[in-house]
Amino acid sequence: MQQYISQLNEAQQAPVLQKDGPMIIIAGAGSGKTRVLTVRIAYLMSLGVDAFNILALTFTNKAAREMKKRIGDIVGAAEAKNLWMGTFHSVFARILRSESDKLGYPSNFTIYDTQDSVRLISAIIKEMQLDKDIYKPKQILGRISSYKNSLITVKAYFNNPELQEADAMSKKPRLGEIYANYVERCFKAGAMDFDDLLLKTNELLNRFPDVLAKYQDRFRYILVDEYQDTNHSQYLIVRALSDRFQNICVVGDDAQSIYAFRGANINNILNFQKDYENVQTYRLEQNYRSTKNIVEAANSIIDKNKTKLDKIVWTANDLGPKVKVHRSITDGEEGRFVASEIFEQKMRNQMLNGQFAILYRTNAQSRAMEDALRKRDIPYRIYGGLSFYQRKEIKDVLCYLRLVINPKDEEALVRVINYPARGIGDTTVEKLTIAANHYKRSIFEVMENIDKIDLKLNAGTKQKLEDFVTMIKSFQVINEQQDAFVLTEHVTKKTGLVQELKKDATPEGIARIENIETLMGGIKDFIEGQREIDGARGSLSEFLEDVALATDLDKDTGDDDRVALMTIHLAKGLEFPYVFVVGLEEDLFPSAMSLNTRSELEEERRLFYVALTRAEHQAYLTYAQSRYRWGKLVDSEPSRFIEEIKDDYLEYINPSDAGGYRYKPTMDLDIFGDIDKSKLRLTKPVAGTPPKKYGEEPVSSATIRKLKPIGSNSNTSNLFDNKLTVGNIVMHERFGKGEIINLEGAGADKKAEIKFEVGGIKKLLLRFAKLDVI
Ligand code: ATP
Ligand code: MG
Repeated sequence: MQQYISQLNEAQQAPVLQKDGPMIIIAGAGSGKTRVLTVRIAYLMSLGVDAFNILALTFTNKAAREMKKRIGDIVGAAEAKNLWMGTFHSVFARILRSESDKLGYPSNFTIYDTQDSVRLISAIIKEMQLDKDIYKPKQILGRISSYKNSLITVKAYFNNPELQEADAMSKKPRLGEIYANYVERCFKAGAMDFDDLLLKTNELLNRFPDVLAKYQDRFRYILVDEYQDTNHSQYLIVRALSDRFQNICVVGDDAQSIYAFRGANINNILNFQKDYENVQTYRLEQNYRSTKNIVEAANSIIDKNKTKLDKIVWTANDLGPKVKVHRSITDGEEGRFVASEIFEQKMRNQMLNGQFAILYRTNAQSRAMEDALRKRDIPYRIYGGLSFYQRKEIKDVLCYLRLVINPKDEEALVRVINYPARGIGDTTVEKLTIAANHYKRSIFEVMENIDKIDLKLNAGTKQKLEDFVTMIKSFQVINEQQDAFVLTEHVTKKTGLVQELKKDATPEGIARIENIETLMGGIKDFIEGQREIDGARGSLSEFLEDVALATDLDKDTGDDDRVALMTIHLAKGLEFPYVFVVGLEEDLFPSAMSLNTRSELEEERRLFYVALTRAEHQAYLTYAQSRYRWGKLVDSEPSRFIEEIKDDYLEYINPSDAGGYRYKPTMDLDIFGDIDKSKLRLTKPVAGTPPKKYGEEPVSSATIRKLKPIGSNSNTSNLFDNKLTVGNIVMHERFGKGEIINLEGAGADKKAEIKFEVGGIKKLLLRFAKLDVI
């Protein structure tokens, strides 16, 4: 043990060695917070604390698994296995299962994913005959989610006129009813959504003092990583559980708080001192992850935020290369640059694919990156987006399995009752739903009693319903005797799912069957993995819970070598030798939706700080001057965040200067027209030019000006645009014929909106677009 402690610096050792009492570690990125938590847990165990008495809450289940493994290396795997470790959702789902009867839920309750919740809300909106353009299901779910995370139950909602008024003001006076309906339907289906896992845990701990006492006694030592991103509901759980022993250790970085939009509350960090007595506060200042250039660049960024705790972050690591900034003309070219650079670095420095990460603000940006990586045969993996388990064919299989475990699960039932087609039409399902609502029973229960209820169904339909019930019950029998793998194989055959998919011989159809095979493989791995841990486990319900709560990172087995692509939100806590932060453009990052208030902009800046601090050796910041968004080509300007970094830490790559591989004239769009591309360069690198600072103001169109042809005065643009007026019919080299419908800006920034006969309206910078008036 001593050996592991001596590997920490003094500041890190202090919180490890303080055995008892409340403590908070506030420190910047890469300073070893997560490492301190890991060593602290091992140290507690070495002092004789029982693994069963330690609860550690992490940001992903993968992080928990890794931590467990490291602790296992120190204290022995057998001991470490008994630690309670995981995300809030997975730990408390497990507790809720064993206490569910107290809340009136079955222990085999289903966990609805976002897709299920949205579908149910859509159904309710339809049944209530509301306008789905006003009552947008996803928005409504967001609202309900924020109520739940603030512990505003349906009852509390109806006792609060202010909330009702606010919803009425936003043209949704019936939101409360939808909320009530949704909660009732979930309950009837024996289902909890993600937010319920936290809300119901709070309910359990509040309503049942004996249950609270039991878990307080069990979790004598509680540790929370990424504490800055806990929401109110999570905060209350932690506070309740730690109330008796007060052995609570939280670590976090206010500068990395990036989930306010989901209800995370930075005050949880700021108020920690007030919540407990004699809180010890520790600060770590030395960064072990990144080079000096990266650490300093990140410091200079976060400095711009006004709301923050003062922190010092420094590193004894090498200076390292400067942060590279790359401009491209289109997002396609941006992708090609990233792929080429990865290719080059791999060749030059013998790097593995897994040492590179591409981070973006929104999932939609992955496409250009994927295309370019594929062309270069660089293997990659995308995290986030539509997860494997949400693909249609996979979800269909899972829904059958969910029904086996919990036949009351209505979302599962509605999804597969007539898939593959078995002659149970929408009208029948509607009748069943109405009856189920009327009798306050589940649809499955109505089907079981179809003979006793008069739903005006013909004999054929009744028979089909009975057959369905019999089929599910036969699966339940198999489930009692066989493992999840055998059952799933049986289900995919007996339901006709596989036969249905085999009808489609297109590559997509074949891919679907392969996906199901992958799922089967996953089930097998799961069973074997669980058996290794403690013999008896590995049941279907455990597998389904694992699936429901799997975050995307969890599926990464790390056994094949791929470039990682993910949103910055997902990258929290991770590190990679090479990191590309792409799409650094105004309105994209910072996002257009965040420009209204300072606090939103500051959250974007923290997100940028998180992105940059993932890099160990080399960070790249890239942006494109035009990009397809919402199906349109839009011009974009470099993000203010690039400007905000002190120039000393940046190196601007000029595509044309670099020559060779970086600049390929095979662009997606040749908006340059006839300009000699080699004459384009950023004005920024000119020695002695002070960088322009934007401070807090939204950036104007100024930044694009940095791009100007060399050897020409700034009037060059006049060559192109002087003679144009609205109404001119023009010819573009690539887009063909179009009419100018609007002109804006002046000089080098002058843009024309042109309605092309083919391809619709595009906005082009006149400086680049060579247009002939016809
Ligand atoms: P983040 O804020 O990004 O979550 P963090 O503060 O949790 O970062 P860690 O991930 O724990 O930081 O540590 C960053 C890196 O530095 C890791 O690779 C870790 O192993 C290494 N590290 C931490 N402390 C030390 C140390 N004392 N000596 C050597 N390496 C260390
Ligand atoms: Mg960490």
